[in-house]
Amino acid sequence: MKKELTCIICPRGCALTVTENDGVWTATGNACPRGATYGVAEATHPTRTITTLVRVKNRVDTMLSVKTENPIAKERIPELMRLIHQTSALAPVKAGKVILEDACGSRIIATRDVE
Ligand code: SF4
Repeated sequence: MKKELTCIICPRGCALTVTENDGVWTATGNACPRGATYGVAEATHPTRTITTLVRVKNRVDTMLSVKTENPIAKERIPELMRLIHQTSALAPVKAGKVILEDACGSRIIATRDVE
């Protein structure tokens, strides 16, 4: 199996070819080792850090920006978004506060203050 990817680790954007042979994945086209790690991970188990918004219950027309503390599996993003849409925060909130303790294996963290 072979997959063509663009490395998104740095702005150089190397064109990667990730190949599977007898269960072993290898990358070519990477200008540095980080690209090989990214390419194999993206081909075998893609993950994403998600940034989104959560309602603030006790403020009118106010949303709180949040993100996953760790990358989560790409296939779990719809489940994560359902959990986040059911969640609300109570102001005041400081950046770094945990808004959800466990959402698809990651904590959800506020990324800004809401007074
Ligand atoms: S392989 Fe290395 S140099 Fe190329 S885009 Fe990825 S991180 Fe940047």
